[in-house]
Parts: sequence; C-alpha cells; structure tokens
Amino acid sequence: MSLDSLQDLFVEELKDLYNAENQLVKALPKMAKHATAPELKAAFAEHLDVTRKQVDRLNEIFSALSVNPKGKRCKAMEGLIEEGSEMFSKKGNPSVIDAALIAAAQRVEHYEMAGYGCARTFAKLLGHGDAEKLLQETLDEESEADSKLTEIAESVINTQAQDASGA
Ligand code: FE
Ligand code: ZN
Ligand code: FE
Ligand code: FE
Repeated sequence: MSLDSLQDLFVEELKDLYNAENQLVKALPKMAKHATAPELKAAFAEHLDVTRKQVDRLNEIFSALSVNPKGKRCKAMEGLIEEGSEMFSKKGNPSVIDAALIAAAQRVEHYEMAGYGCARTFAKLLGHGDAEKLLQETLDEESEADSKLTEIAESVINTQAQDASGA
C-alpha cells in the first residue's frame, strides 16, 4: 500500500500495532512461564489479559474505519520477542534470568508506547476522536505496565540478582 496521506500512514501504523499485539498474546504466556518471582509471573499474566483487551480496541478501530487489520508483520516486535526468548532459554540463576526478562519486557513496552503515541497523535490530527481515545487508553496501559516492571525490578529482582553473584 502506498503512503499518499496521513490517513494511509495511520492505517499502516495501526496494522503494525495489531500484528505486534497479536505476537505478544503468544509470547506473554512464555514469559510468565519462565519467570520465577511470583510478582513477575503475575505481572506477565496480568499484562496478557490487558493485551487481549488492546487487540479488541484495535479491532473496534478497524471496524469503524472499515479496514481489514491483517497483512502486516511487525518485524521489530518479532526481534524484541526473539531477544526475550534468547534470555529465558539461557541457563543461569533464576533471579538474574528474571532481571533479563524485565529488561526485555521493558523494551517491548517502550516500543508499544512509541507506536501508540504516534497513532494517537495521527488519530487526533485526522479527527478520529473515538480512535484517539481508545489509543490513549492503550498508551496509558503500556506506560503502567512499564512502571510496574520498574517497581518489581527495583523492589525485589535486582537485589536478588545482585546477591546471586555472591558479590
Ligand atoms: Fe500492548
Ligand atoms: Zn513494528
Ligand atoms: Fe537489540
Ligand atoms: Fe504492552
């Protein structure tokens, strides 16, 4: 599809996010499975539920635009998930692996925040008020997920990971 208008770009960005979220619906259960700290497992499980709702919101926007959401592969998310699974496939101390999972997951959340921030802004410029509101809701959730991961890292995981080395 050629990009002749901001509307075209808006749709492309939405398709990228749609594919990225669907990749995450598959990846988050694996992240949860490989996490050891109960609060981290719970955070991944909770974000899976949130992610499913985010897919629903995108579906709502696509139907309002009468656009088919399929047909784009988000290569960036593929790469981010690949890096995350490299981390949990390694042997090592469980707390250090948890810290690695958090570092990978925060990259994902920041990627999503960038995508939703742009899409939200395009929706506003194009006068798609309903889409703007839905995209802002998701942006806020991604930001909350990122903060939650920081909190878990700083309150528990990082200290345990540091103690693991015996240093
Ligand atoms: Fe998301
Ligand atoms: Zn992408
Ligand atoms: Fe990288
Ligand atoms: Fe997310």
